[in-house]
Amino acid sequence: MKLYKRTLSDLKEMLEEERVKLKDIYESISYRVKNVEPMVKAYVNQNEEVDLNKLDENDYKDTYLKGLPIAIKDNMSTENLETTCSSKMLENYVPPFNATVVNKIKEAGGIITGKTNMDEFAMGSSTENSAFNPTVNPWGENRVPGGSSGGSAAAVAAGMVPVALGSDTGGSIRQPASFCGVVGLKPTYGAVSRYGLVAFASSLDQIGPLARNVDDIAVMMNVIAGNDEKDSTCVDRSYPDFTEYLKNDVEGLKIGIPNQYFEMDIDEEVKDSVMNAVKELEKAGAEVEKVDVTGAEYALAAYYIIATAEASSNLARYDGVRYGLRAENANNLSDMFTETRQQGFGEEVKRRIMLGTYVLSAGYYDDYYLKAQKVRTLIKNDFDELFEEYDLIVSPTTPTTAFEIGEKRDPLEMYAADIFTVPVNIAGIPAISVPCGFDKKGLPIGIQLMGPHFKEEKLIQAAYSLEKILDLDIDYPDLEMEV
Ligand code: GLN
Repeated sequence: MKLYKRTLSDLKEMLEEERVKLKDIYESISYRVKNVEPMVKAYVNQNEEVDLNKLDENDYKDTYLKGLPIAIKDNMSTENLETTCSSKMLENYVPPFNATVVNKIKEAGGIITGKTNMDEFAMGSSTENSAFNPTVNPWGENRVPGGSSGGSAAAVAAGMVPVALGSDTGGSIRQPASFCGVVGLKPTYGAVSRYGLVAFASSLDQIGPLARNVDDIAVMMNVIAGNDEKDSTCVDRSYPDFTEYLKNDVEGLKIGIPNQYFEMDIDEEVKDSVMNAVKELEKAGAEVEKVDVTGAEYALAAYYIIATAEASSNLARYDGVRYGLRAENANNLSDMFTETRQQGFGEEVKRRIMLGTYVLSAGYYDDYYLKAQKVRTLIKNDFDELFEEYDLIVSPTTPTTAFEIGEKRDPLEMYAADIFTVPVNIAGIPAISVPCGFDKKGLPIGIQLMGPHFKEEKLIQAAYSLEKILDLDIDYPDLEMEV
């Protein structure tokens, strides 16, 4: 098997057993990137800081990640490496510090290959909102990779990197993972430091890994989970070795299937594929029951009120004064603010700022923002109650497979793609998307497993079992071109 096709865990083991040279791994990956990146366009910026040809595995011998490559979504700060959030506002912005997750990866002996494309400021579900260019789904030339972590998902699916970090505010790790046929985990709110993550909606944002199998998700969680005194929302607790939970065992696991989710507007093929995976889990010894989730139909509305409200406040800092774009030729300070924001933000970001400002305004605060917060509490309570009885709740990750580039012009239609992912962020719980099949067009389908707060290991064990039971052995798109 070509080295670029191998998973992080495989490569780690090969290096540990001295069966491969780091240089050969990077040669294979560089070849692949040269070959497919012109078509996929997953990266905003590749890291040229490291001379890949001089890499020596001996320098990384005692590290956990052994010098292996990891891509980072372009909303996580990287010292000396541009961090643009795929926005004109931050084009050319070079942070003076690393995000905690970036430091953790480096300390564990990982090498940052570059920054991946995204919807501007992580607002979107297709990566079409990138101010630079859309990313293309490796499974179909005219298909979106999902978003907002579309570049991370596409890079992993295309074999350009074994794992990548993404961020998930309302589904931005899981939805692109599902569209690109890879695994994506959104950890519990508070399990992974967000220090250095450019804020979108602070009460929902979370960083997590995307990879080609569950083993690699466990490895990455071992690296990034943990407390951080620089992020006050991080919870001070200990985490297990997540790789200990890579066992094929779902015996006695109690799984709830929410009636309401399956009554919504979903592609039949997606529904069938997810239900088939559930049946397989049942055959393997899990107990499956239908459950009711109240408020599921209000989650999307509540999310788009809370997320825009927080975004309007977080994005107030882009005023042309401290960093990022500054409009030239403005007559006075106030014009400079206005012009900078007019030129620097794209259409969707402006829409969110306006919506958020509106729902927070004096006359509407109670009707919208306050009500959304109450719905949030109801949704959270509902999940808490369900998890008293069930280990996991299972649903499709997305109502459809990857749609076409340019297909969804109406913002509300785009927002509807997040219907199954946003309740998880609202409740702050962890969830993982795992590939469970393909539709007739050959596009991947993902199943979402949701678990109680800080029970990532349960998700990892169930997802690993499902991966083994379904044994999809995904043949990632070849994409080879002449270079
Ligand atoms: N698609 C959702 C949105 O546009 C979620 C984005 C995210 O998780 N960053 O808000």
